[in-house]
Amino acid sequence: MTDSSDKKVSRRSLLKGAALVAGAAAVPGLLVTKAAQAAKVPKSAMQYRDHPNGNKECRLCMQFIPGPSAKANGTCKVVAGSISPHGYCIAFAPKA
Ligand code: SF4
Repeated sequence: MTDSSDKKVSRRSLLKGAALVAGAAAVPGLLVTKAAQAAKVPKSAMQYRDHPNGNKECRLCMQFIPGPSAKANGTCKVVAGSISPHGYCIAFAPKA
């Protein structure tokens, strides 16, 4: 149909992925497995890009897991793959 419906599907995918991650985190003692990592949402579904959106960037997002240095790529609790500290996606959630 239109881009609008595609975005709705993407947001639905985000919610499913976030629910899986949150559910896994809620189980005490649960080990992170490859199956859990596979539940992450693809970058394309989250409209990920490797540059900021204004002052919104991954290093300031509560979902970001930093790499070995401030400039190194890290990972994300929601989005699959290597994540730039200066990246951004539609799931951005500022750290408290
Ligand atoms: S902005 Fe998106 S890709 Fe970056 S850390 Fe947050 S949820 Fe992950």
